[in-house]
Amino acid sequence: MSKLLNVQAYCERCKKTEQIAVDLSSGDIQQHLSSHSGVYPISLTHDDHSIVVFIDGNGAARRVNYIDLVNQRMESAVSSQASIILKAALQEKIHGTMFVISQNPKFKDFIIALGQVLNNNLSFDEEFSIESTKDHVLYKIRNYSIYLGPFDSFAQSLMTKNDVFFYELSNLDLPLKKIKNRKSLFLLYNLQEMIKQGTQGKLNDFILNYKPDGIYDFRTSEDIAEAIFKALEGIYVS
Ligand SMILES: [Zn+2]
Repeated sequence: MSKLLNVQAYCERCKKTEQIAVDLSSGDIQQHLSSHSGVYPISLTHDDHSIVVFIDGNGAARRVNYIDLVNQRMESAVSSQASIILKAALQEKIHGTMFVISQNPKFKDFIIALGQVLNNNLSFDEEFSIESTKDHVLYKIRNYSIYLGPFDSFAQSLMTKNDVFFYELSNLDLPLKKIKNRKSLFLLYNLQEMIKQGTQGKLNDFILNYKPDGIYDFRTSEDIAEAIFKALEGIYVS
């Protein structure tokens, strides 16, 4: 017996009300409704965002979440990147650490998205550890580590000769002279911010002193993800 209902769902993002036809008797929906969550999720795309409507056993929209498509750009940038890291790490082709030297929240958003993708794509018995403190985030997959945080004594204790550095040029002057044996060094900077603060002169100094393998101007977390992806592709995919 079919149990067709019209479910009303309101999207807070664009203030639009959706009418969704749902057959509550369908097997897939019944399975969700009888599960632990007790709700059935339906996703719909609205212009620059998508919504997920959670429908309960009475046919009511219990909750409506929206996701900006900007996050999807982040997710797709991170997914392809994660697959490259995973493949190389699982074949044990790469040893060492990928350092992301920054204390900028935009970098943290990127690292968290990367950790989620790595976690979702690794089999349960794979060695994968996550360490998160107020100063840094550290992931380990077999012989490969990914570090985000300041270039402090902890970061320096992780160094090997095969490391890849992504360094955010900010107002902090860090003891970069210690980065000598690294495999590659990439510079990330937010030119708009630097001009605002009158610190753009540091850019030339850095390039002259450290001769980075690549430089990337960023505004958003997605720019950071795409820049790091591009750099890693150049290193690990040949
Ligand atoms: Zn909407």
